[in-house]
Amino acid sequence: MTATRVLVLNSGSSSLKYQLLDMRDATRLAVGLVERIGERTSRLQHTCLTAEGTREHNGPLADHDAALKAVAEELAKDGLGLDSPELAAIGHRVVHGGMFFTEPTVVDSAVLTEIERLIPVAPLHNPANLTGIRTAMALRPDLPQVAVFDTAFHTTMPESAARYAIDARTADRYRVRRYGFHGTSHAYVSRATAELLGRAPEDVNVIVLHLGNGASASAVRGGRCVDTSMGFTPLEGLVMGTRSGDLDPAVIFHLQRVGGMSMDEVDTLLNKKSGLFGLCGENDMREIRHRMEEGDDGARLAFEIYIHRLKKYVGAYYAVLGTVDALAFTAGVGENAAFVREAALDGLEGLGLAVDRERNAVRGDGARLISPEGARIAVAVVPTDEEMEIAAQTYALVGKDG
Ligand code: ADP
Repeated sequence: MTATRVLVLNSGSSSLKYQLLDMRDATRLAVGLVERIGERTSRLQHTCLTAEGTREHNGPLADHDAALKAVAEELAKDGLGLDSPELAAIGHRVVHGGMFFTEPTVVDSAVLTEIERLIPVAPLHNPANLTGIRTAMALRPDLPQVAVFDTAFHTTMPESAARYAIDARTADRYRVRRYGFHGTSHAYVSRATAELLGRAPEDVNVIVLHLGNGASASAVRGGRCVDTSMGFTPLEGLVMGTRSGDLDPAVIFHLQRVGGMSMDEVDTLLNKKSGLFGLCGENDMREIRHRMEEGDDGARLAFEIYIHRLKKYVGAYYAVLGTVDALAFTAGVGENAAFVREAALDGLEGLGLAVDRERNAVRGDGARLISPEGARIAVAVVPTDEEMEIAAQTYALVGKDG
């Protein structure tokens, strides 16, 4: 029997998201989520897509090891156990691969050490990702474990885009540079956009707007990323659900010197209490729209700031690319919020960027064009699928090796 299944794991500090996929025909077999790991109120939600059923378990799961074992039990109940010879590999989302990891990589002890070495630049994410990998290795030591990095797609950025204009020696010493994130999504969406146009990724230049709770833009030339809006951390760039995005760094000095805030307080302020949430107390775009319709000025201003920043990045990446073939909207807001797509490109007809009202209003599951007939630049909605991309990259690697 050929092994064609891939389990994709996305481990957070207290959560574990998973999907089991069959790469023979790129289908999903099971999906699920464990939340509040380490608390008494842990919850596992498991959906088997072959049998169409969701099961939920509530009760303490002390750590990731317990969580993954509980997931394995659920999969086994559906005849999809992790001991199956059909399981080819486990693919792990790893947030930070620094400059070292430019491609998906089969995990061995040297790779674990390197991911660990990156903890100072990714203190929130890499430790959790490592825990997930180690747990999976303990459960299936014989199986290839593949790390797929959020930063990898952006390692093709030229130095002119990747470096900050600060003292070069200090930057090198502390590995301060623009890494970019959401890379798996930008890779998938830019390729899927080329497919939608019926062209090879090498032949098209695409601006990708990944607008979820976290949000980032990228400029992709011929399938390679040449600039992206997130930087040293995911804080830079667009206005997000709870993150400020671009900010004069001197604001931080001011809040500390004059506002008496600690480093951690400023960190929390900018990452968790800013963005749309900081501006109007709400980070869900559906609710912001609702409030705008009711005449809420705070929500309106938050929306305008969000759109203004988005437009600036579209203009910037237009200039970076020189020639643009397509612009793609993706993620929760990009895929669902037609009013955001319309506002983001409003007034950019002179650049060849426009949204057709009727096409934009149509809801759909797949990738679709929303630009007017005959437009110079294709504007598209392209649903992202990070798990499928991680599984595909994992399977390609294991297939090649095996
Ligand atoms: P993340 O993966 O960054 O947590 P998602 O890509 O799932 O986020 O996007 C979540 C966001 O998408 C929500 O916070 C909400 O603002 C937005 N969203 C989801 N559905 C809709 C919708 N139908 N209309 C407008 N916004 C939506």
